[in-house]
Amino acid sequence: MTSFPAVLGHENVAMIETAGKDVGWSVGQRVCVEPSLSCVVRGIDPACSSCQAGHFALCENAGVSGRFPRGLMLGLNAFTGGSWAPMFVAHHSQLHAVPDDLPDEQAVLIDPMACALHGVMRRFPGDHATVLVVGGGILGLGVVACLRALGCTARVTAVARHAFQTRWFERLGADQVIQWSRKRSTTERYDDIAQCVGGRRVDGRFGNCGFIGGFDTVYDCVGSGASLTDSFKWTRARGTTVVLGTSSITLLDSTPVWAKELDVVGANGRQLEHWEGQRLHTYRVLLELVREGRLSLDGLLTHTVHPSEYSKAFRLISSRGQRDLTKLAFDLRDA
Ligand SMILES: [Zn+2]
Repeated sequence: MTSFPAVLGHENVAMIETAGKDVGWSVGQRVCVEPSLSCVVRGIDPACSSCQAGHFALCENAGVSGRFPRGLMLGLNAFTGGSWAPMFVAHHSQLHAVPDDLPDEQAVLIDPMACALHGVMRRFPGDHATVLVVGGGILGLGVVACLRALGCTARVTAVARHAFQTRWFERLGADQVIQWSRKRSTTERYDDIAQCVGGRRVDGRFGNCGFIGGFDTVYDCVGSGASLTDSFKWTRARGTTVVLGTSSITLLDSTPVWAKELDVVGANGRQLEHWEGQRLHTYRVLLELVREGRLSLDGLLTHTVHPSEYSKAFRLISSRGQRDLTKLAFDLRDA
């Protein structure tokens, strides 16, 4: 669902360079652009049922029709361009004003943090629930931060690969962090989970492991076949697996979905949320949590690189464990 040539980049903070007439925005305003290319953006009227419900990321027209080519969002579309370039185009309905006191380094995290927030709001755990967060990237860290920002009192365990991720998880409010190196075997990892939440590993053939018991809610913030396989297995019978990580065509063991009667909940992007009696875009809920001091984005962006040094950027990301790299952004402010 992409059109080419496409300039990548959908997470952004930007300055309006040119504005249309009577759209309510003016040159020089600092904004975050919600990347979904949904019905209103595409000039489709009446909007599809998903857009009418405020579920812009689920738009039924984003991949197929409207005033520009297919492509679900900014960065995957030949007409709009993407935020890795000095300029891109957006519809005024996509714009969200950035508060003056929020630095660019934090504002650029609004989109990924909103995706984490949306996942948490898709399925909020009960007060005494056991919760597992799989994945130590910005989504996983964001899930822990958003759970606590929304007042979650559940026992939250997180899985990390690197020491700096463990420190971040603890700082953001995880009760327990399990840190695994790549050398940790499947049986050892499953035993670690058993020790953490109760339950037990069941050995299968060919090195495969099953798991009896597990967490009430598991947030999978990776989306790979391996992580989904583990997340399903580590969810207790009739528990919930929330899938936030970008998933793809992959090989996975879906047995627990059937055998344990799991609820599998997808969480894609940002939408209109029900929050404290209001209907607000996920970005606005997030900004409100930041304004109230319930959530901090400070320090989560650890690296910035000019796009001309893109090869350095990829080198940094591939050695994130040695660099304490939580999140990297392209910095075009001097471009
Ligand atoms: Zn739509």
